[in-house]
Parts: sequence; structure tokens; C-alpha cells
Amino acid sequence: SGETVVAEEDLDALSQVSFPPCMRQLHESIRKTHHAKHGARLQYGLFLKGIGLPLEESIKFWKTELTKIMTREKFQKEYLYSIRHNYGQEGRRVSYTPYSCAKILSETIGIGDCHGCPFKHNSAQILKNRFESYGIPPSDLQIIMNLVFEGQYQLACSKYFEIIHSSALEKVICDPNEFFKQSQKIRCN
Ligand code: SF4
Repeated sequence: SGETVVAEEDLDALSQVSFPPCMRQLHESIRKTHHAKHGARLQYGLFLKGIGLPLEESIKFWKTELTKIMTREKFQKEYLYSIRHNYGQEGRRVSYTPYSCAKILSETIGIGDCHGCPFKHNSAQILKNRFESYGIPPSDLQIIMNLVFEGQYQLACSKYFEIIHSSALEKVICDPNEFFKQSQKIRCN
């Protein structure tokens, strides 16, 4: 949005209270494995830009994690460019737009990928375990899972939003950055 500025050290807390499941999953996976494939770096990198994480903070995040399993030289040579590229600082200097749900839902997800939309791309069992660990009560979880079984992924995500914020949405979630924005509106009031 450009209005708020987010710092790298805010991300752990924000991921728990204001990230949609797709981005919380990416955040937790990268913190845990210090690794992200190309699709994950794009989906998460553009989201982070969209929530107001400045380029320098974004570099700090990726560098902190990725250099736990690779040398600084490798990071500089192979990863720095694409991070700067997402912010329009390299190549054609286009400032790339964060992905919408439609775009994320249309992604082809392979084995070992942690991007995509969990509602569509994760198994029902993984999804259930995840939401239980997030503290979603069983009756609410059932409502979410019913929407998932119907293939209503964005409605399931909107329901999840309403449950964790105890607040109704005016419209269905259509992109992860909108989820974050609506959440912060409620959390920061
Ligand atoms: Fe992310 Fe959209 Fe899926 Fe929600 S519906 S988890 S915001 S891709």
C-alpha cells in the first residue's frame, strides 16, 4: 500500500496474526528450512513488498535465512538480483505486482514446493492439522473444510479470516495483500 512500513523483525509476529495461510506457510517454511524454490521466492517476495517491507528489509530477511545454508558469495551472485528485480531495481525496472488468489490458485505445485494456496494444494489432512495447530476450533474447522471440499477456496480463506478476527468481511478475499490489509485494519484499531 505504501502507507505502512514493515521491518524484518516484525514478520514473525505479523505472520501469526495477519498473514493468509499461503503466506504464513511460506514464512514458516523459509524460517525453518532456510530455503525457498523460485516459485516460493516470487510469491512470498512480492507479497512482502506489497505489505510495505522496504527493499533493504527484504534483502535482510532473505540474506539472514538463505546464508544459513549457502555462502554469502552464492547469495550475492544468485539471489540478490532477483530480490532487487522484484522491487523494480534491476532489468526493465518494472515494479512487479503481488500475486492475486486467482494467479496463486492457477499455479502448478510440485513436490517439495511450499508456495501455492494451501486450501487447494495441500491435502485435507495436512490442512486440518495445520489449522488445529493455529488454534481453530473444531466446529469452525468443519465449516472451512466443507468449503474446501466444494472447491470454494477463496470462501474458505474468507471464513478463516472471519474466524481469526471475530469479524465479518465485506467481500471475499481475492488477494493475499488484501487479506493482510483488512487484518491490520482490525488489529491496529
Ligand atoms: Fe492465499 Fe488466496 Fe489461498 Fe487465501 S485464498 S490462502 S489469500 S491464495
